[in-house]
Amino acid sequence: MIVVLRADATETQISHIVEKAEKLGLKAHISRGVEKTIIGFIGPEDVLRVTPLEVFPGVEQVIPVLAPYRLVSREFKKEPSIVKITEKIQIGGKKIFMMAGPCSIESLEGLRSIAKEVQKAGAAILRGGAFKPRTSPYDFQGLGEEGLKYLKAVGQELGMATITEVMDTRDVELVCRYVDILQLGARNMQNFSLLREIGKSQKPVMLKRGISATIKEWLMSAEYIVANGNFNVLLCERGIRTFETATRNTLDINAISVAKQLAHLPVIVDPSHGTGHWGLVGNAAKAAVAAGCDGLMIEVHDNPEEALSDGPQSLLPAKFESLMAELKKVAQAIDREI
Ligand code: PEP
Ligand code: MN
Repeated sequence: MIVVLRADATETQISHIVEKAEKLGLKAHISRGVEKTIIGFIGPEDVLRVTPLEVFPGVEQVIPVLAPYRLVSREFKKEPSIVKITEKIQIGGKKIFMMAGPCSIESLEGLRSIAKEVQKAGAAILRGGAFKPRTSPYDFQGLGEEGLKYLKAVGQELGMATITEVMDTRDVELVCRYVDILQLGARNMQNFSLLREIGKSQKPVMLKRGISATIKEWLMSAEYIVANGNFNVLLCERGIRTFETATRNTLDINAISVAKQLAHLPVIVDPSHGTGHWGLVGNAAKAAVAAGCDGLMIEVHDNPEEALSDGPQSLLPAKFESLMAELKKVAQAIDREI
């Protein structure tokens, strides 16, 4: 870490900072310039969370050298990580994986028919919510375990991997029994108990970016999971809340490259929640592929008008199929595959 001192820092202040840091196990290298003095400290930076040097008199700025999200950072691991879901589904390599299905699981029959359509179009992973984080307590809350049973049955029947959201620490074990990937939703990105609990399992998890979370906060949440022992983490950009009201959220295309530069984890993009409107999903999905995502999650429903949640942003199966053909071309142009 580098400590930049104020131009008027006194010798007493400088020695005080050095003494304090040395007591914490850091080694100081002072460099005196014409205008400013800079101290480079070598040693465990974590100690600064307890003793914040920036409040010491004479200090102008403290610049950490290591990212606080250490285990997920590129400094920790240079090569991009591949998260293995099944033998055939390994996310983070050349191939871009498609996750598709309804927002909520509504019935066994309904799920099966949508699953067949998305699989035919090229999706390898079936999505469907059984525990739904709804803004209103009066809206459909999901089928719970019954929904998980349908998801597992359809996944097995068709040979598709499955993903669903888990909202409560008490349900982690239950949900793990039914699906291949856990989804940690935007609203729970900073539910630290849930992050820890999921970290204790080895189940692959897709961590959605919080509605108003910075990329750093998102990576810190991923760090919670990894620090608890589960390295099978996928990041998911799903749009953030901005001043813009024309779309449900603002899909942060920059976040794909930034997250991939800072962290070694694969990045998935959800253009459905990122836009909130079916007519905008296709272009956002193409942009995400062009920007280097490793997978897409898209909501598809065979009767969006009657969907119990997120109908307005759900694609009809035929539209999803034609989008897949376009996405393949974009992927090819950047030497990836779908
Ligand atoms: C969802 O995937 O249906 C969902 C609720 O997502 P998010 O957490 O991104 O809102
Ligand atoms: Mn949804």
